[in-house]
Amino acid sequence: MCQPTLRCQVPKDADAVTRTVFEQANEALIITDAHNCVTHVNPAFTRLTGFLPADVYGKTPDAFSCLAQDSGASAALVQEELTQYGHYKSRVTYRHCDGEFYPGLMSVRGVRNAHGELSHHVAVLADLSIIPAQARHLSREVYFDALTGLPNLQLLTQLIQESMNHADRSGQALAVCTLDIDFFSRVNDVFGRDVGDVMLSGFAQRISHLLFGDDVLARVGGDEFVLLLHHEVDDDFFQRLLAAIRRPLMIEGRSLHLSASLGVTFYPQDGAQGDVLLRHANQAMYRAKQRGRDNFHIFDPEHDRQLQVRNEQRQRFIEAREQDELRLHYQPQVDMQSGEVIGVEALIRWQHPEQGLLSPAAFLPAIEATWLEVDLGEWVINAALQQLACWQQVGIQLPVSVNISPTHLLAEHFSQRLGEFLARYPGVSPSMLKLEVLESAALHDIQTALDTMGRCQTLGIRFAIDDFGTGFSSLTHLRQLPVSLIKIDQSFVRDMLTDRDDMAIVESVIYMANRFRHPMLAEGVETLCHAKALMALGCTLAQGYGIARPMPPEALPRWLAEWPARNDWNALASIPVP
Ligand code: C2E
Ligand code: MG
Ligand code: MG
Repeated sequence: MCQPTLRCQVPKDADAVTRTVFEQANEALIITDAHNCVTHVNPAFTRLTGFLPADVYGKTPDAFSCLAQDSGASAALVQEELTQYGHYKSRVTYRHCDGEFYPGLMSVRGVRNAHGELSHHVAVLADLSIIPAQARHLSREVYFDALTGLPNLQLLTQLIQESMNHADRSGQALAVCTLDIDFFSRVNDVFGRDVGDVMLSGFAQRISHLLFGDDVLARVGGDEFVLLLHHEVDDDFFQRLLAAIRRPLMIEGRSLHLSASLGVTFYPQDGAQGDVLLRHANQAMYRAKQRGRDNFHIFDPEHDRQLQVRNEQRQRFIEAREQDELRLHYQPQVDMQSGEVIGVEALIRWQHPEQGLLSPAAFLPAIEATWLEVDLGEWVINAALQQLACWQQVGIQLPVSVNISPTHLLAEHFSQRLGEFLARYPGVSPSMLKLEVLESAALHDIQTALDTMGRCQTLGIRFAIDDFGTGFSSLTHLRQLPVSLIKIDQSFVRDMLTDRDDMAIVESVIYMANRFRHPMLAEGVETLCHAKALMALGCTLAQGYGIARPMPPEALPRWLAEWPARNDWNALASIPVP
């Protein structure tokens, strides 16, 4: 028979702070002696259960609580946990003095005296108060997982909302952490579902040990769990969690090993609402899986925001395509020695209804390496072919260069599609279309690039290497690639008169191109001084603001008419070219 040693609410030997905490704590606190007989309960206990201290003194907690049938724990297991770890936590059903039963969470820790002997137990009984009152009476299956007795997704959704409200009010941290057991389906396949179920219960039990007061562990799917942590957690915490999961579980005499992948998001740093918070934690968990499993990943709101902006930009770009807001502008290319206009380069523009005419730098990065790049590339080829046909009708016979992105060039069926587009304009000779490819595109997958370029050549298409000098083309590649023009990148040309390194690069490229007998064109020719210097080095083909800025197609006939009268540029013909 239990003989309680003290019969007052607050332990007599407690100091003032401890007394206040005991008296004013929100959670029901129960202190039992070494035999687990109640010696103290606090006012929160009375508020929760309706029992006065005198009703429970000397009795074991069984008088007002019992293990929840659905918690997966047994009395033996609880006792074993207490002996082995010194604490346990389990779902319980507690009885109110009016006879009603309610779901609660009991967390018990054994307290040892200076000699290491068990002297007390301290228990916290939480009434899962954040479950809305009207929900408490609802059938347990609606809110709790049958196997582990943990809150299910339905309840978790409410708990997250409550936790967020609480965090807003208290400024306390909230971490939402999703856990997914790695390769759990294999456990079921190899050992059978029964062993799988025992493992899941053991897993849940193990994680519960690492939780504090009002932390929540929920099971939201087969092997998917969610933790709500209401306190500061750092990387060490998650490492400890992973380490605990890694420890073998003894099941039916077998030692079984598990690992899990964790995804975490922090509220309010991640300002998302409710289920979005859970989705972000899940996203992070998938990253942890991608990074090899058995580790954790923390959701980065800033990175996510950038992705979202990217997505919106892409969406807007799709609309631009549908609403016909894209334009091609054309920039002339000339032979400075003869004065002849040798072609034009088609450059994409977006006639944005609010932002005006946008340059490619404003929108191409958002679609880089997506299917939209291929879609745009096909639109550009078609628009250029259409323009060629129009100009031809008014007697303008100028080859048009179009820029082809690496993704597009290396896409499947590139040459076949190109053939189809050419077939739509039978009046346009394929030799009038030139494709500018970046040297980096060719280097990315040299064999595919060579194959595609070879097939395009048989269609009568010619190639230019764009932005030459910015990649890392080796001489071998330069020799291999079937190109009819090398375009020296404008960044070197622009500063060649003031920067000795840039001048050296321009000189080398011109030298190299001459040795391989590749025609070359200098981009970014802004002034006559640039033009003269380039000619002196042996480069006569040029494109740049000094000659003409990119212009809408309807402006080209007038520019063509005026070009021969540009005396300053015509005078270049007298410069000797080596
Ligand atoms: P790029 O192919 O090297 O085109 C030359 C760029 O240099 C053009 O910029 C042109 O306006 C600019 N430029 C020409 N002369 C001068 C000059 O004297 N000084 C200066 N500072 N700049 C000059 P833009 O039109 O903004 O295009 C930039 C890049 O965007 C192009 O570089 C090309 O890589 C890409 N791009 C343009 N149109 C398309 C397209 O239809 N498809 C794809 N995939 N990329 C395109
Ligand atoms: Mg180009
Ligand atoms: Mg270029």
